[in-house]
Amino acid sequence: MFQEEFVTSSASMRVRFGAGVRRAIGEEMETQGLSHALILATPQQAGTAQEIAELLGARACGTFTGAVMHTPVSISEEATEIALRLQADCVVAVGGGSTTGLGKAIALRTDLPQIVVPTTYAGSEATPILGQTEGGRKTTITTPRVQPEVVLYDAELVCSLPVGMTVTSALNAMAHAAEGLYARNRSPISTLMALEGLRAFRDALPRVLERPQDLKARGETLYGAWLCGTVLGQVGMALHHKLCHTLGGSFDLPHADTHAVILPHAISFNEAAVPDLLAPIADIFGVRTAGRALYDFAVATKAPIALRDIGMKETDIDRAADIATQTPYWNPRPIEREGLQRLLRAAWAGEAPS
Ligand code: NAD
Repeated sequence: MFQEEFVTSSASMRVRFGAGVRRAIGEEMETQGLSHALILATPQQAGTAQEIAELLGARACGTFTGAVMHTPVSISEEATEIALRLQADCVVAVGGGSTTGLGKAIALRTDLPQIVVPTTYAGSEATPILGQTEGGRKTTITTPRVQPEVVLYDAELVCSLPVGMTVTSALNAMAHAAEGLYARNRSPISTLMALEGLRAFRDALPRVLERPQDLKARGETLYGAWLCGTVLGQVGMALHHKLCHTLGGSFDLPHADTHAVILPHAISFNEAAVPDLLAPIADIFGVRTAGRALYDFAVATKAPIALRDIGMKETDIDRAADIATQTPYWNPRPIEREGLQRLLRAAWAGEAPS
């Protein structure tokens, strides 16, 4: 559908794809005029951080393996102090959204350049957004200061992502693209990227599940993650992301699983208001509606499909609907309590969206 008016701008960042491309990290630092990297990772990925440190040799000035979920301010301050003490001139974040978040938090405080080597499909490396937590409260800021400068997408590193996380992480990425299709500030470019990102996951995720070590399929899913993450960085999100935020924050449901369950239902809810904008999703999957297409894809990839299976109690449905309607936000379809209750009931039970 041709869009007559739009504004688009893109971040200046260098993106390099290829199986094994992490081995070019020293060369990438040199190109940027950098020579002292602090390497960041979670405790679980300390081995990968060690490999990067060995690849960098004297260009690595230290390693910090304390990255955790939700970017707590105390950890960011500790890591920032280490970066300053070691006189790092850049950070290298190797991991998923949690590690990338730590690199962004250091950049916010120091303006150090960031090189990111993503190992999930979350897409944080492609956005100028940072979510941080302090005293149990999560706040989000958007500033070019946290936008990474260089991203190296290495299919070899994503092969170790367990199958369950592979699926939920992919659906998390696809949610950025799906909501990008009806964003008020979308552009023809963000729409192209969203559709190509969804297509890449449609084609490659089933192949990854068949053969998790298939580098070509893993590379294609990373390509999808980059496109979907770029959409997230360029346009505003709506009901799906807000609902996942509510469920995660108020009922402590797991982040990526919640995205996987809610996506078909949120898209189906909005499809009633913007059928033309979502029709391309139905076309990509060859299914009658976008909501049903995403539900069938989730079932086919053995994603979690019911909130009751990921820790939500049936008695919490009404409270969740109340919380999600309390803070008003833009959505293509007005959000009323009853509609949201119906949506949540179907998602709780794992039923196909109507
Ligand atoms: P994660 O980074 O928390 O990783 C989850 C676990 O999987 C960690 O233990 C990690 O070490 C491990 N892991 C990651 N890659 C692996 C691999 N290839 N092999 C084996 N283990 C691996 O998970 P995530 O879903 O990537 O990130 C979630 C966080 O990112 C959330 O806090 C979310 O809010 C944030 N996020 C932010 C943005 C943004 O634009 N700011 C975008 C998306 C997600």
